[in-house]
Amino acid sequence: MTFKATVLTLYPEMFPGPLGMSLAGRGLQRGLWALDTCQIRDHTTDKHRSVDDTPAGGGAGMVLRADVLARAIDAASNKDDGRPRLLMSPRGRPFNQARAHDLAKGPGAVIICGRFEGVDQRVIEARELEEVSVGDYILSGGEMAAMTVLDAVVRLIPGVMGNMASAETESFEKGLLEHPHYTRPVEFEGRTIPEVLGSGNHKKIHEWRLAEAERLTRARRPDLWGAYMAEDDSD
Ligand code: SAH
Repeated sequence: MTFKATVLTLYPEMFPGPLGMSLAGRGLQRGLWALDTCQIRDHTTDKHRSVDDTPAGGGAGMVLRADVLARAIDAASNKDDGRPRLLMSPRGRPFNQARAHDLAKGPGAVIICGRFEGVDQRVIEARELEEVSVGDYILSGGEMAAMTVLDAVVRLIPGVMGNMASAETESFEKGLLEHPHYTRPVEFEGRTIPEVLGSGNHKKIHEWRLAEAERLTRARRPDLWGAYMAEDDSD
């Protein structure tokens, strides 16, 4: 079963974009995952092909219409295909590495990209859309959020990344930020590489990396650090 992403957007020409390059792009070419897009505007019925309208109650901006979006969703995905329907939305549950793993194990995702002020609430409820946020800031549309989610998910699909081992120590995988990296040259502008890394002592190297990961997490991400410590206590 191949992971299949369907992206509903007013700008299908943005895809695959960056997802067509590098690891994700090679995976796409090799059929390790699949991507299609659906132009929401193709599901309008009026002669102006309008996808949006003014907000009920007044105020700035425009809102994506529930009827148009529902038709696009129904045409682009079958309710029984088991794929979650994700609406990119700053109000959604924050996307993270755990959710990326969940999605990568599944059959794919139907991803809906909002524009304007957002989408009519009724289609969110009627089509049981799961709102997903990529961070506490406002993008002008859901397309880059969709690319972010897909990039994070696709690299976890077996075969997409050359070296799966490198994924295991990465930031967030163990609840910690990753340790710093070094490579040649041995000296750069008077700065050397920490001696332990050249020692060949794998136990010492592992201990140093863990200590650095803990130090960075504690200093930069009290939220992750708290969860990591709580996990430790429960062991
Ligand atoms: N008025 C909305 C923001 C609309 S931004 C609000 O204040 O919550 C337009 C579209 O961009 C949204 O519908 C959503 O699809 C997308 N978008 C913007 N920021 C996002 C974020 N942080 N995460 C995911 N999608 C986002």
